[in-house]
Amino acid sequence: MPTIKNVCVFCGSNHGYDPQFLAQTNALGQYLAANHHPLVYGGGKEGLMGAVATATMQAGGQVIGIIPTFLSELGLAKTDITTLLETSTMDERKDEMLRQADAFIVLPGGFGTFEEFTTMLSWSQINVHQKPIALFNIDHYYDPLVTMMQKSCDAGFAPQENMNLFIDATTIDEIFTGFANFHHQLPFKYTN
Ligand code: AMP
Repeated sequence: MPTIKNVCVFCGSNHGYDPQFLAQTNALGQYLAANHHPLVYGGGKEGLMGAVATATMQAGGQVIGIIPTFLSELGLAKTDITTLLETSTMDERKDEMLRQADAFIVLPGGFGTFEEFTTMLSWSQINVHQKPIALFNIDHYYDPLVTMMQKSCDAGFAPQENMNLFIDATTIDEIFTGFANFHHQLPFKYTN
């Protein structure tokens, strides 16, 4: 059973139209603060990114933002958080997020969020890390993505076991129960 302290949240730099997205984002920030899980996230002030950081801070939690300098220079960084780190590139940002986080939660978002989710998942399936990843599938936003992933298994592009490398959750309780029960298991051995 993995010990989970810092939780990295990936999410949209927009709010999205469904009011449940913002409501559940705020609830997640409050949950992280109440359960003493420092939040690691992309350091942005906009959209669900800004919202999860604000909710965590306002509930008395800790927030570590990690943002590339070029986005910070555009005025997109959230400065009223516990720690704001700058990186040279987007790739360095993800490396630092992986280093700082014990687990990942993916809230609704756009192309950037998909990329962050699939990066961490694809690194998990080749044993670069063994950390749990949860899709917070609010209002079934991610159902088409999960369907596509299952299709890739059915089509012979991924072993079926790799669907167990992430938790498909519709509530915060399901996410943390999934984390507590998570075992990183791969069908093949990797020596890295
Ligand atoms: P998206 O899901 O497309 O909104 O992208 C979210 C991710 O894209 C973030 O974690 C960042 O990597 C990057 N990103 C895009 N726009 C911003 C922004 N305004 N502020 C900070 N990060 C952003």
